Amino acid sequence: MDKARHILRDIFGYSDFRPAQGEIIAHLAGGGEGLVLMPTGGGKSLCYQIPALVREGTGVVVSPLIALMQDQVDALRQVGVRAAFLNSSLDARTAQEVEQALLAGELDLLYVAPERLMTERMLDLLARSRLALFAIDEAHCVSQWGHNFRPEYLKLSALHERFPRVPRVALTATADAPTRKEIAERLGLVGARHFISGFDRPNIVYRVTQKHSGTRNELLRFIRENHAGEAGIVYCLSRKKVDATAQWLEDQGLTALPYHAGLAQEIRQDHQARFLREEGVIVVATIAFGMGIDKPNVRFVAHLDLPKSLEAYYQETGRAGRDGLPADAWMAYGLQDVIMLRQMLEASEAGEEHKRIERARLEAMLGYCELTTCRRQRLLEYFGEQLPEPCGNCDTCLTPPETWDATVAAQKALSCVHRTGQRFGVNHVLDVLLGKDSERITALGHDRLSTYGIGTDLDANQWRAVFRQLVAAGLLTVDAQGFGALKLTDACRPVLRGEQPVWLRKDARPPRGGRRRERGRRDVPRPADGPGEILFEALRTLRRGLADAQNVPAYVIFNDATLHEMVAERPRTLDELGEISGVGQRKLAQYGEDFLSVILAHAAQDEPGTVSDTVAETLGLRRLGFDAPAIAGRRGLTVETVYNHLARAVEAGELSLREAVDLPDNELARVRTAFEAHFDCRAPALRPVFDALGGAYPYGLLRCVQAAEARQA
Ligand code: ADP
Ligand code: ZN
Repeated sequence: MDKARHILRDIFGYSDFRPAQGEIIAHLAGGGEGLVLMPTGGGKSLCYQIPALVREGTGVVVSPLIALMQDQVDALRQVGVRAAFLNSSLDARTAQEVEQALLAGELDLLYVAPERLMTERMLDLLARSRLALFAIDEAHCVSQWGHNFRPEYLKLSALHERFPRVPRVALTATADAPTRKEIAERLGLVGARHFISGFDRPNIVYRVTQKHSGTRNELLRFIRENHAGEAGIVYCLSRKKVDATAQWLEDQGLTALPYHAGLAQEIRQDHQARFLREEGVIVVATIAFGMGIDKPNVRFVAHLDLPKSLEAYYQETGRAGRDGLPADAWMAYGLQDVIMLRQMLEASEAGEEHKRIERARLEAMLGYCELTTCRRQRLLEYFGEQLPEPCGNCDTCLTPPETWDATVAAQKALSCVHRTGQRFGVNHVLDVLLGKDSERITALGHDRLSTYGIGTDLDANQWRAVFRQLVAAGLLTVDAQGFGALKLTDACRPVLRGEQPVWLRKDARPPRGGRRRERGRRDVPRPADGPGEILFEALRTLRRGLADAQNVPAYVIFNDATLHEMVAERPRTLDELGEISGVGQRKLAQYGEDFLSVILAHAAQDEPGTVSDTVAETLGLRRLGFDAPAIAGRRGLTVETVYNHLARAVEAGELSLREAVDLPDNELARVRTAFEAHFDCRAPALRPVFDALGGAYPYGLLRCVQAAEARQA
């Protein structure tokens, strides 16, 4: 376990395991098998990566999405882990090199697509290699009832027979109790240890709003007010709606890209890559998008249509906020969703047993939408977990909805459905209730019904809300034949007989402009405001430049949580920077100087024209003629720190560059020329300058020059 802890600190740069991680890693590193259920963002990857590093041989990771393997491997290589992948995107030569490396024991981790893994050739190759473990990621793909079934996953059960000595671990972020059982059975992990972590995602704020004609605008306002310039996913049910919504958001000036199975492969890949690599891209997608997307800084997930089940909802919303920073799950839902999903379900070819389960799942989803109590409590309850107190960080907790006694309204609605013969959709029933004077109504004789015009106390929108909630509560259903006719259920009888009161929620009016997000009482870290925001932007810019140069996604360099910690902690030396969570040894060596420069440059800008006491002291010694190493010696500081002080003094105009550094004119000119040629203020990295000068001048000195240039600019 000591070894595991060292790997965590030195390679990944984290000080502690998260609660479940330690136990899982100890178990797997010791050769145990397991099934790991952990919410998205919980840190599943380390659970198999560290045991693979601790154990001898290569860890083989089965992952369903080849498009994402590259990023996972890039991220590992960034921290110095020997990782590779094998899938159909590789040319034959590269694939062969990877295979050779595997045989030679030169790989810590190998990612393989399931269909490739189970080929005779691959199995044979594995049999000749030394293997640390098998990790089966996104294990819910083995579940035929789940929403991401992949037939190739079924074959994975044969792994155990072929490699009885190599321990296996299956991991997933989503599984209610039946799915969990199915995974364990199909993968032969019934006897293995099951690690089930809490499902709570405290940093996600759950919101459900009612659909109306202005829902798109409401979404736009929500994005602009809470997530301007941030990454998000908008889910829609149909491809057509995906295209239209993406186009509309683009027209409003956002960067929104469509993604669905009807688009050409290259377009999908391109849009996914842009989402991963650029900042602030919104993907509008069908459920075809998202599995395995491990971009940590997705700030919101919006649903413009109702998901089929709470499992799907939990998984889709779970893609927001993997970095633990505040994120939003926003959903608009309406009567049409209910009607449409019910019809799709009834019309499907599935067997009666399957339909029964699907129906129960949809009921649970609808119940969630109409809640007047804490959403998180219900969501966790669905996954078999108890949250004793309301969460204080969902819409119903933040602004408790009002309810009203709708018993009479419900009776009117139900009897109007009854009187019109249970043959009409909501619009017609509504017209009758409101006493509309139309040809159709007269032709049908519905103006002579006792329920004609008895509903004028409510308007059409209020009636829609009543019908929606009656359907959600199971007092009404929608016919299966596709015409959307409302029908009574047995459950409505006590209401019609006046034996059961009905309380419904009042739909909130859509918020109008200018309102910032309310804050919950939960203590979640929040991005910095004010000067911190400027520094954060500067760090993001630097990260972007470094990532582009290597053609990797930005978060592979450092994720947002790490940048926020840099802003909050303002490290002043490389050692201090190394303490920041997410900064391991390799990244410190690779990027430390660059990030430190930006942080220090901003420290100087925070208080223009003034220097702190410690800087003043260094300055005094410098004026007395001591050079940087001598000052460092006298003051017990590192040379690095002394240069930082000098840079701040230059920045503040207290010291000229010539006074700050002991360099002959010709050398100073050389450094300045290198700056002009290699320093890009849009991606302010010092490393190119450092390299261009052959490493002849320390970074601290370059920082002084940078400060002088910045003053001149
Ligand atoms: P999952 O696969 O469970 O969704 P990841 O493995 O992608 O989650 O991890 C989510 C985020 O949490 C990543 O940014 C990861 O670097 C970070 N993380 C994981 N373990 C730790 C830890 N022990 N300390 C700090 N951050 C961690
Ligand atoms: Zn709540």
